[in-house]
Amino acid sequence: CGVFGVIGVTDAANFVALGLHALQHRGQEAAGIVTHDPEAGFNSARRMGYVRDNFTSHEVIRTLPGTIGIGHVRYSTSGNKGGTAMRDVQPFFGEFSMGGAAVAHNGNLTNAAQLRKELIERGSIFQSSSDTECIIHLMARSMGRTIPDRMEEALRKVEGAFSVVAMTRTKLIGVRDPLGVRPLVLGRLGDGYVLASETCALDIIGAELMREVEPGEMVVVTGEGVESHRPFRPRPSRFCIFEHVYFSRPDSILGGKSVYETRRQIGVELAKEAPVEADLVCPVPDSGTPAAIGYAAESGIPYGMGIVRNQYMGRTFIEPSEQIRNMGVRLKLNVNRALIRGKRVILVDDSVVRGTTSRKIKEMILDAGAAEVHFRIASPPTAWPCFYGVDTPERDKLLASHMSEEEMCAHLGVDSLRFISLDGLYRAVGEARGRDPERPQYCDACFSGEYPIVPADMVERGFQL
Ligand code: 5GP
Ligand code: SF4
Ligand code: MG
Repeated sequence: CGVFGVIGVTDAANFVALGLHALQHRGQEAAGIVTHDPEAGFNSARRMGYVRDNFTSHEVIRTLPGTIGIGHVRYSTSGNKGGTAMRDVQPFFGEFSMGGAAVAHNGNLTNAAQLRKELIERGSIFQSSSDTECIIHLMARSMGRTIPDRMEEALRKVEGAFSVVAMTRTKLIGVRDPLGVRPLVLGRLGDGYVLASETCALDIIGAELMREVEPGEMVVVTGEGVESHRPFRPRPSRFCIFEHVYFSRPDSILGGKSVYETRRQIGVELAKEAPVEADLVCPVPDSGTPAAIGYAAESGIPYGMGIVRNQYMGRTFIEPSEQIRNMGVRLKLNVNRALIRGKRVILVDDSVVRGTTSRKIKEMILDAGAAEVHFRIASPPTAWPCFYGVDTPERDKLLASHMSEEEMCAHLGVDSLRFISLDGLYRAVGEARGRDPERPQYCDACFSGEYPIVPADMVERGFQL
């Protein structure tokens, strides 16, 4: 998901809509905006579908007055996964004795089922199937005197990954979980301030990046400025390494590093680790493009657009139903036959999850008359599900959970298949000495199976670590 918030600007809703539009790649199922105006009070709009289709008309924006606002773009990783229900669309809102607060959350709480059960037993009435709603109920039960106090208390009880943007009538609040699994940045816009999942959402409104909200930090922003709190016991951070590989936009800056440059470097590492003789390096667009550029540069093999993407389709995997996902590949990608014919092609993609994309693409490339097809993947084999806010399928649906690299190669029917090593990936994100096995610098659980936060609800349901 993507989160965004702004304070101290005229017509905040316009900025929130633009920020969410820039974060659309983080969630395409639904979007919502809440604003506050001293006269009109809190107002909200929540809609299914794209930001541009719902939040560009004056009709909607004029119902959202105020100089403070937050927003959320959703894709389901918890709650109803079969597609978003209206009641699960964020931001969520709670009314407390000291006033209202709206909350938008990116990530996934790993003890939400347990908390929900306890809260329901003690009288909470849940409105949605979302893990995020626990935060509101925990805040309602807190004795804290201010909303930020209540939020701190609530967030000390939840486990998992959370980058939260929240607002009261007068305050904008941003929090990252102690491990800082998901991103969140703080920016400046004139006299106002902005919080956003990624820097690309600052760029679109002309805001200036101040800094990242730090892992375990809560920032409370008012007209007076930014206050920093440390609600949690300090721990070494574990940022999601997959944000660098795939999830974030290539024009964003993560941890001071250009995402594009990191991905290009992954391609360079891949070319060193897994060279092959071929005529053409070709990305699976768009997610494989920067790595393919790096692979081509390092190998000296020409780069070409052998696959062309229809820009008007969303990301395949974000469509939750199996049937649509299967159609998706053909609707979205087409082979550039004139370029491919007779060539030995290296295809570079960011990841192999179920393997359906790779299989379809291989077929399309061979149909177009390619002489050989070699896959090079910009992440290690995805063998474990993510419980921290990226929607990977169950373990047995992950190709790499039950197949070796050779078996996957045979299954996909390609001439060769190689993944970047975990160390190679760490080098590409700037860790010169690779992954520290004692204290890994990032979360890489979907590749290593080492979960930095025990997925308590999943363990309870029988998941084997
Ligand atoms: P597959 O067809 O192997 O299931 O999906 C691989 C494609 O889905 C890749 O091209 C990649 O861009 C995209 N993808 C990346 N991350 C994820 C993820 O976490 N889950 C899923 N299902 N697909 C992803
Ligand atoms: Fe990121 Fe993978 Fe960790 Fe999930 S399991 S937070 S996708 S690195
Ligand atoms: Mg892709």
